[in-house]
Amino acid sequence: GSAGTLLKLTNVDTYYGAAHILKDISFSVAEGEFLALIGANGAGKTTLLKTISGLLVPKNGTVEYQNMPVNGVAPFKLVGRGMIHVPEGRGIFPQLSVKENIMMGAFLRNDKAEIEKDYEYALSLFPRLKERITQFGGSLSGGEQQMLAIARAMMARPRMLLLDEPSMGLSPKFTEEVFKVIQKISRDGQTIILVEQNAKAALGVADRAFVIEVGQIVLEGKASELLSNPKVKSAYLGG
Ligand code: ATP
Repeated sequence: GSAGTLLKLTNVDTYYGAAHILKDISFSVAEGEFLALIGANGAGKTTLLKTISGLLVPKNGTVEYQNMPVNGVAPFKLVGRGMIHVPEGRGIFPQLSVKENIMMGAFLRNDKAEIEKDYEYALSLFPRLKERITQFGGSLSGGEQQMLAIARAMMARPRMLLLDEPSMGLSPKFTEEVFKVIQKISRDGQTIILVEQNAKAALGVADRAFVIEVGQIVLEGKASELLSNPKVKSAYLGG
């Protein structure tokens, strides 16, 4: 791969048992790039993120990360190499405080001073969390829990940040708030893959995007161009 390629998928096929979900997926992501994957419910977006973070192992093809094949590498080892997946549904700890939830993201680290810096950065991204720092995670609204999941992910110092459906269950106001922060994180240099059913929100912030239909990439381009693509408009942007 060219210098600066962080992730590369080549002819990837992923199955659930006999069900062939991802079909011949190939693409690369450059260091610092912000890629969005849009598509309908069930198109295979979550399956693709899980294939990247090692939660699923492709039957055919290769996933390369930092110029090394990672097919079959345990997910926690990839976490140690900066592959950080914020799952659909967020997966926060309801009985832990907001601070404890955030600090969970640093559980593989012991560089105390740097952890403290990243904690300040995470809180600067989400002042709302700062105001609720001693509350239980479970007492937060859905939008705040999404913020918490992203703040926790940032504590792992991601090289590759995978975001699955951050708008899920969020009001338009919270969606906008969360997406503004995702955009800021991207502008701070973070490499991001964002999976979204909310095509409008995703295309509004990403650099490049793919449309996924039944496990295949059917369209790709600059996010700003896809926003005005007639096919994307009629199928994903409500005409
Ligand atoms: P959503 O946003 O609704 O999750 P998606 O595009 O992320 O949609 P996937 O969750 O990747 O879609 O699902 C792709 C296909 O794989 C769907 O047909 C789904 O029913 C199927 N699928 C997902 N998880 C499993 C599983 N554990 N076992 C069998 N089939 C599954």
